[in-house]
Amino acid sequence: MSAVEVATSKNYIGGRWVEARSGGVSEVRNPATGDLLGLVAKSGAEDVDAAVTAAAGAYERWRRTPAPRRAEMLFRVAELLAQRKEDLARLMTQEMGKVLAETRGDVQEAIDMSYFIAGEGRRLHGYTAPSEMPHKAAYCVRAPLGVVGVITPWNFPMAIPSWKIVPALVCGNTVVFKPASYTPLVGLRFVEIFEEAGVPAGVVNIVTGPGEAAGDALVEHPQVRLISFTGSTETGLRLAEKCARLGKRISLEMGGKNAAIVLPDADLGLVTDALIWSSFGTTGQRCTACSRIIVHRDARADLTDRLVARAERLRLGDGLRPETEVGPVVSSSQLERVHEYVKIGTREGARLLTGGRQISDGAFARGHFYAPTIFDQVAPEMRIAQEEIFGPATDLIEADSFEQAVTILNDTRFGLSASIFTRDINAAMSAIEEIDTGIVYVNHGTIGAEVHLPFGGTKFTGNGHREGGLQVLDVFSEWKSVYVDFSGRLQRAQIDRE
Ligand code: NDP
Repeated sequence: MSAVEVATSKNYIGGRWVEARSGGVSEVRNPATGDLLGLVAKSGAEDVDAAVTAAAGAYERWRRTPAPRRAEMLFRVAELLAQRKEDLARLMTQEMGKVLAETRGDVQEAIDMSYFIAGEGRRLHGYTAPSEMPHKAAYCVRAPLGVVGVITPWNFPMAIPSWKIVPALVCGNTVVFKPASYTPLVGLRFVEIFEEAGVPAGVVNIVTGPGEAAGDALVEHPQVRLISFTGSTETGLRLAEKCARLGKRISLEMGGKNAAIVLPDADLGLVTDALIWSSFGTTGQRCTACSRIIVHRDARADLTDRLVARAERLRLGDGLRPETEVGPVVSSSQLERVHEYVKIGTREGARLLTGGRQISDGAFARGHFYAPTIFDQVAPEMRIAQEEIFGPATDLIEADSFEQAVTILNDTRFGLSASIFTRDINAAMSAIEEIDTGIVYVNHGTIGAEVHLPFGGTKFTGNGHREGGLQVLDVFSEWKSVYVDFSGRLQRAQIDRE
């Protein structure tokens, strides 16, 4: 397909598909084949302003729409997603590379989230409490904030936006969504579904464009009350500084350096299956990907052999092909970043056991493929053990004891996901207690969160908020405390105590 045949996608603002006002167009290309998939607008501040104005205009009516009615539309979103699952998954594989089984999973996560959160339309529970005064009622309810800005990465182009947009809507907020520049097409299809589900004009808007222009304008816009961001720690912290200055709420889901502990009593067959999947699924480009395997010295040699043998058998290729197990990395710059870390690891004295190279021969020539990479002899303080690589590379770190393994696991600036493999219940329970991350798995890899539990991390992974679970409602609502005094006289709290 050539650029001349492809029309530039429009933004969806105030219930209409409109051309961007700011000039410029970006190409969207398949990272496996290099094929041109589409052209999208490089929108800027003017377009964001139009979208925020539309969202602000739609807000009063939407917040007054009863939550169960809002939720009915979200159930419809779930149904439409389920009907289109295959098409959406295929587009997603073409747009960002992960294999079809995983893109189906990504769409499924959006379906799960939409059903789960739509159910909250008939709950959105606050609570009642006794008052310290007679003839006085005390209770609290959730209230929406207003216009929410949603900024998302490319690795889960439908699941992550659903974690934000759906709960924002059920709570009564309106939304302006800026998808990642690598995956705008899936974002646009997602928004079409809200339109089709009957969500009124202006309630969900999408503006495609670069983070530094469209994203920045969304963060800076005075009518945006809340930014919900998932992406790198560097970007997230910069946005948090801005939001602090502007007095707006920001919820951050950022990087990870997730680890699995393997004790000598673990079932190494299971460990191998789980850690190959956690390290190389989504080509290692998951915020929960396992990039440190902390293995007890008594299990190290056996596990190393098993992991290397399996990593070398993984079939790379176009994610649309049924036999493919690992797709491309998302872009040439991401590929260079992975390779740069491989050089850093080698310089630091780690030993490269397998991988460590781009694959570009024959069928791979037009894509961004990188061989699944495993290092051993990795010291916990090395950069490859501390910094997020976000690609198909993992480290083996040897530990002498359970205690040392937990210390190594916790010794990073991130705190998203962790796991322990053991058949010793005391070790497993101690690990759950001692590990400082937002998610802990036992006898399972570091990936595989479900939508109805809180999702997020400690330290530089986040800023205390959680997505998923009912906890996500706290991001998208304000608490309003209500006191109704029906005594007919002045009763002073804390003072009148007869
Ligand atoms: P980035 O931080 O580069 O981008 C994330 C989003 O922010 C994109 O939409 C991007 O736009 C936008 N953005 C970039 N700069 C700005 C800016 N100055 N102002 C406003 N918006 C901006 O991350 P990636 O997209 O590269 O995603 C990879 C990172 O995301 C990894 O570090 C990974 O750990 C993290 N991640 C975390 C998850 C979690 O839940 N904790 C889940 C998934 C990923 P554009 O695309 O146009 O650059």
